[in-house]
Amino acid sequence: EQTNIVLNVNGIEVIYNHVILVLKGVSLQVPEGRIVALLGGNGAGKTTTLRAVSNLLKGERGEVTKGSIELRGERIENLSPAELVRRGVVQVMEGRHCFAHLTIEENLLTGAYTSASRSEVAANLEKVYAYFPRLKTRRGSQAAYTSGGEQQMCAIGRALMASPSVVLLDEPSMGLAPQIVQEVFEIVKDLNAKERVTFLLAEQNTNMALKYSDYGYIMESGRVVMDGPAAELATNEDVKEFYLGVG
Ligand code: ATP
Repeated sequence: EQTNIVLNVNGIEVIYNHVILVLKGVSLQVPEGRIVALLGGNGAGKTTTLRAVSNLLKGERGEVTKGSIELRGERIENLSPAELVRRGVVQVMEGRHCFAHLTIEENLLTGAYTSASRSEVAANLEKVYAYFPRLKTRRGSQAAYTSGGEQQMCAIGRALMASPSVVLLDEPSMGLAPQIVQEVFEIVKDLNAKERVTFLLAEQNTNMALKYSDYGYIMESGRVVMDGPAAELATNEDVKEFYLGVG
């Protein structure tokens, strides 16, 4: 069965501040309509990889110095983050990053800047509320007064407002209780199944990520050290010993 590769990261190196080599030739492929997990401990290079794809390294004084990144066969290393959003690639940053003083609904609307019309915005908002009923309940609340789980949902919801085809999701489990993590992952799975959104997600919570992903890449010190179907990684003895039960 032939699957289309949406994202093809090919041997990228990333250097911070002109000297610190952080990614040492990372390659990975994300097939259309799948959930792919980028796993590994603190500082392994997961966030850097996502930022390289969405061209968000500049603000961190980082740059891709080798390799290539393709979106459906087209090179994208030189496209601006905004252009990438227009092409359907949206990143949900680690740490949720909601605007604390805006309401949940206002936060969601900030994600709609690429929308062509008010009716598209309204339709997307209804769609987000359908997937995240909690956000609908909390639509008028200031983000600062909502729970960590609601803020994570808000961050994902805001990304959905741009009608993405690929979502780069950075550490959705961070700081959340296991039950809430599960709730968030269930919604991700749902969005993947029903809206055909492709996900590349970075996670330290290997257990949870493998449970909800199709395929996984494990990173260590800026390199991919292992990859395979999620179900195989989940039962792999080395993975169990070194990564499961961590995070
Ligand atoms: P985490 O889960 O902590 O985000 P990660 O796997 O996502 O871990 P990265 O955030 O990509 O890892 O960091 C990879 C390495 O790059 C780390 O050693 C980190 O200290 C370094 N690094 C990250 N951002 C910068 C920066 N702006 N300048 C210099 N070094 C950086």
